[in-house]
Amino acid sequence: MLSTDIDALTTTADYTSHVNPQWVRLLNVLQMNVSYEGCEGVELHVAGGRTILDFLSGYCVHNVGHNHPKVIQALKDELDRRGPAMLQSHVPELPGALAKKLCELAGAPYEKVFFASSGSEGVEAAIKFARRCTGRTPLLYADGAFHGLTCGALSLMGNSFWSEKFGPMLPQTDRVRFGDLDALKTQLSRTKYAAFFVEPVQAEAGIRIPDRDYLAETRELCHRYGALLVMDEVQTGMFRTGTFLASHQLGGAADILVLAKALSGGLVPVSATLMTGKVYDSVYDSLKRSIIHTSTFSENGLAMRTGLATLDVLQTENLGARAFEIGDYVRNRLNESIGGFPMVRDIRGLGLLSGIEFQPPKTMAVRALFEAFRTIHPGMFGQVIVMRLFRDWNILTQMCGNNFMVLKVAPPLVVRRDHVDTFVEAITATVELMHSPGEFWSEALGLARRAANV
Ligand code: PLP
Repeated sequence: MLSTDIDALTTTADYTSHVNPQWVRLLNVLQMNVSYEGCEGVELHVAGGRTILDFLSGYCVHNVGHNHPKVIQALKDELDRRGPAMLQSHVPELPGALAKKLCELAGAPYEKVFFASSGSEGVEAAIKFARRCTGRTPLLYADGAFHGLTCGALSLMGNSFWSEKFGPMLPQTDRVRFGDLDALKTQLSRTKYAAFFVEPVQAEAGIRIPDRDYLAETRELCHRYGALLVMDEVQTGMFRTGTFLASHQLGGAADILVLAKALSGGLVPVSATLMTGKVYDSVYDSLKRSIIHTSTFSENGLAMRTGLATLDVLQTENLGARAFEIGDYVRNRLNESIGGFPMVRDIRGLGLLSGIEFQPPKTMAVRALFEAFRTIHPGMFGQVIVMRLFRDWNILTQMCGNNFMVLKVAPPLVVRRDHVDTFVEAITATVELMHSPGEFWSEALGLARRAANV
């Protein structure tokens, strides 16, 4: 069948048969397998008139909100232009414009950009470039890190869940405690690392924010021992935390910076690896090596146009200031409403990247239930929260990928206070329920049974 009719082309059955049936099963178990008809800003519209509020943003992709009209218009304009695409044989205009803009926004010392299509590819480029520039092989990373799931990026992640049975990973990689300058110094003095990879705020590890001097000292230490500093701002960049880069407020310029996710406007894959002139020139150092690292889809017109339009929206709509303002509102409201509950350990964040950290209950009856479910699956407790918020309150969230006790709160930066109020009402009701041995825990049992049956 050849058809351009989208309804004729797509069914869940086809997806189940030919793509990822386990994903469909998981969404079914969580009662989150709904069909979205249209998405706009923070709102996801489902068949039958139901509206879901997005408090996940596709893991920080939708900073400008879903389907921003200016990003869509930019894409239409690019298509209408009928310009050269994927020639791989000319000097395109848009990558230069986007790279210039990114370097201006990121500031010194970033001068050059390598474009690709995903955060992982950006991290892979950083690995190669750091090795080439320093002439060293070993790589250092922080515990709890999430840098992507390609083999190189995966070699820089301590959580074996992601890498198990895909090995061997890259040799000569070491892990150091995030936020621990003494440990970093010891490690850097022992081995000649090409680079230390770090996220300024570790998103998937549970919205871990380091002390204010950590990143600046890290840079100093790396340079003292001849290693480069690679800052992974794939989730934290693009004004998510209020400033263009989280490292702008946490004080840590790096040698290589990786951006992706929100640069795409939520529509076209793109990543940008920014770096100093010295790093870039060490890689592309002769005519013969002018395309020594590249990828078919890097610098493609749709991605570049989307990036430019997205940056324009982020700036003209002042979404960084908004991230600061609404982010404070989120955490203040959460602290007032749920901060006093025994199972709420911490509420923290920067801008519109927040986390609610839970801890095991203190009362015996509920504690026994908690431990029982944790034995079945460490992620079960968090998934009951996610499921309840979605099913009962029409709010899309997720737990952090490397810390199942932290609920990530990351709505698009265009989120309004009334959206936040709805979220706070929903999580408050959910937190109240989890403190008594009734409904929340019987629901968890139902979830465990359904999971066992699929
Ligand atoms: N780095 C960070 C901090 C991420 O959160 C992710 C993805 O979630 C990546 C890198 C990998 O990006 P991608 O999924 O686009 O390959």
